[in-house]
Amino acid sequence: MTPDRPGAPFGSHRVLEPHGVLPQPAFRLDNGFGTRWDNEIVVEVETLNIDAASFRQMEEAAGGDPAGICDLVRRTVDERGKQHNPVTNSGGMLLGTVRYVGSAVSPSRAPRVGDRIATLASLTLTPLAIESFGEVRRASAQIDVRGTAAIADGAPFARLPDDLPAKLALAVLDVAGAPIQVARRTKPGDSVLILGAGGKSGILCAVQAREIAGPTGRVIGLESYAKYADELRALGVCDEVLSVDATDALAVYRAVLAANGGREVDLAVCCVNVDGAEMGTILPRRQHGGAYFFSMSTSFTRCALGAEGVGKDVELIIGNGYATDHAAWALDVVRKHPALRALFEKRYG
Ligand code: NAP
Repeated sequence: MTPDRPGAPFGSHRVLEPHGVLPQPAFRLDNGFGTRWDNEIVVEVETLNIDAASFRQMEEAAGGDPAGICDLVRRTVDERGKQHNPVTNSGGMLLGTVRYVGSAVSPSRAPRVGDRIATLASLTLTPLAIESFGEVRRASAQIDVRGTAAIADGAPFARLPDDLPAKLALAVLDVAGAPIQVARRTKPGDSVLILGAGGKSGILCAVQAREIAGPTGRVIGLESYAKYADELRALGVCDEVLSVDATDALAVYRAVLAANGGREVDLAVCCVNVDGAEMGTILPRRQHGGAYFFSMSTSFTRCALGAEGVGKDVELIIGNGYATDHAAWALDVVRKHPALRALFEKRYG
């Protein structure tokens, strides 16, 4: 290895194709680790937490075969130098151990060599090389690998907490942007609809909404997977859990109004892992309310043109995966709710 070459801002020295763009929109990154760049943190990777929309797409393409899913990941990483699913355009994040910290990484943010960390920036911008694959865990969309990755200049990451199992923490950190955004947008007494409420981000949002909306508010969960809908009901944070298909906008509209005393909701949060839920999120929301699209399978045009077409003057919020202090916030939501923690430990821990 050559010692510390100066890296470019935002990790753009890694971009191979097309020239001049940042790592996220790039088609291909340099995923070699023979050179040490002074603004990178190099990590020995143990687990990939694949984005739910991407995992579902690869699972379907591979006919449910774990080896086929690994093969798709291998092909993407070989071709692109990063796990940037060409169909869903989404990535995920990873868990690993710090092996090298570049000399230009700010001391205020630098981890120690040997720290176990989770990346909080997408795999779609993370240079990654994979040597071999291990276990595939469907429930958490996690794949164990042996590999190497680089965290670019300024990209967020979190040290793993000591009090939660690593795989559980990784699962929560993957969707850490969701509960804090719900907290920012919910008021006591609000009615909140969560689509895909039985999944990982959906449950966190439901627990968060209940905490802030309080006893005078109304939290309505919508979940098509019967097992997850039952687990959500058992958690007791929703006033109603609707077993309705989020992509059937008119059915969602009717069911939500029936569950909310005939009124449209103040806030709707889309956490499904499939496309086509835009109007199911927009239709049941009251005029001048908010719709937060955390789902990566959301179409900007369907939202904007669909809202316009039904005369809804509503705020359409893109689910930025990053918010100040989102990682600590999301982990605290799990710590504060023992029943949620027990459920997540059973599913993901
Ligand atoms: P998840 O755990 O798979 O949860 C999604 C839930 O939606 C599952 O329970 C799923 O059921 C359910 N669902 C699927 N189709 C449905 C339908 N037609 N109607 C009602 N419910 C349906 O996923 P997650 O990890 O919470 O992620 C949720 C979304 O957030 C994904 O699109 C993911 O890509 C995205 N995401 C965004 C960010 C960001 O930064 N904005 C970060 C991470 C993830 P099944 O189990 O049957 O599929």
